[in-house]
Amino acid sequence: MNIGGLQKLSFIDYPDRLAAVVFTQGCNWRCPWCHNPGLLNPATAQPGPGANDVLTFLESRKGRVDAVVITGGEPTLQPDLGDFITALRKLGYPVKLDTNGSRPEVLKDLLEKQLLDFIAMDLKAPPAKCNAAIGTAFAFPTLQRSIDLIGQSGLPHHFRTTVVPGLHEEADAAVLAALIPPASPWIIQAFRPLPTHKTRHPDLPDQPPPPSLLQAFHREAHARTPSIRQIHPKCPEPVPPNT
Ligand code: SF4
Repeated sequence: MNIGGLQKLSFIDYPDRLAAVVFTQGCNWRCPWCHNPGLLNPATAQPGPGANDVLTFLESRKGRVDAVVITGGEPTLQPDLGDFITALRKLGYPVKLDTNGSRPEVLKDLLEKQLLDFIAMDLKAPPAKCNAAIGTAFAFPTLQRSIDLIGQSGLPHHFRTTVVPGLHEEADAAVLAALIPPASPWIIQAFRPLPTHKTRHPDLPDQPPPPSLLQAFHREAHARTPSIRQIHPKCPEPVPPNT
């Protein structure tokens, strides 16, 4: 495991649990608004703790932390991800995986081995805007395979979309909603401009999305899962339908 960092305690990354968060290094995408750009390229990233150090620390936290989130970067790029999760589960920790969905074959393997307890997948943009959203060329049908695998997994899960002005339009909300299995929760997050965004991508907006755009996404998400605020506290206030 190439680990870039460990957040020892999070109240918001695993629904209803106190979690430690393991950040893996390396990502196959280059989303312009990525909040963890320092993790994307393992060749230039700051070295983080070793996997054994993380496991030793988590062994010492049993009883005070009750879950582990593995996020990135993109965790499914790690060749020994399954072994690492197996070690975490031997310590008694439920594991949530955050993924961009680009490697459905890894997801399938982890699901078949029953190594996951919760899955969160980022759904960046509709197929026609996917490449612009992720900063590289990628075949959207691969993502749909991950969406379907997660939806059919029977595990707690959600999909997440960060609404970005200049990339998303109101009509995209319905397009994305149609890609997600009907019973799957969909979390809507608002793009938050950071100084690092402008440094790396001068064309990125310096404002969050306008309320009308955010509301279009909230309406679609809220119509699917009205209890979504209880599922993930990072979700902005949902706008009820017909408002
Ligand atoms: S998939 Fe996630 S980690 Fe990778 S570039 Fe996009 S936002 Fe960053």
